[in-house]
Amino acid sequence: MDDCIFCKIVNKEIPAQVVYEDDEILAFKDIKPLAPVHVLVIPKKHIPDLTAITGEDTGLIGRLHLVATRLAEELGVADSGFRFVNNCKGDGGQVVFHLHFHLLGGRQLRGLG
Ligand code: 5GP
Ligand code: ZN
Repeated sequence: MDDCIFCKIVNKEIPAQVVYEDDEILAFKDIKPLAPVHVLVIPKKHIPDLTAITGEDTGLIGRLHLVATRLAEELGVADSGFRFVNNCKGDGGQVVFHLHFHLLGGRQLRGLG
């Protein structure tokens, strides 16, 4: 997608602090971290939001979670705990319309919303 900021990060047109990369997944530090650990885990392919996934994406969605748990271990929050969340569309608080999950940890997180 031409004007998608996360596609530009995937294509290295915009810099990011990448913490994980494979053929289909990229993880990088959030530019405005809300916690000591705040990483965005995204599929490289452009999916606008969670409602746009199909049956073909179930493996990908599982692997995004596996990457998140491995990163939580690497970043030292697997034992203390963390949150792995998606904001979907307007009421969900989504601002960037390329599917992404937030990995948050390193402090006590309070309620949702
Ligand atoms: P959303 O509200 O859509 O779930 O979250 C989007 C997240 O993307 C926000 O936490 C925001 O700080 C982050 N973000 C927006 N633009 C950039 C960028 O250019 N680089 C990085 N690393 N993060 C970004
Ligand atoms: Zn995109």
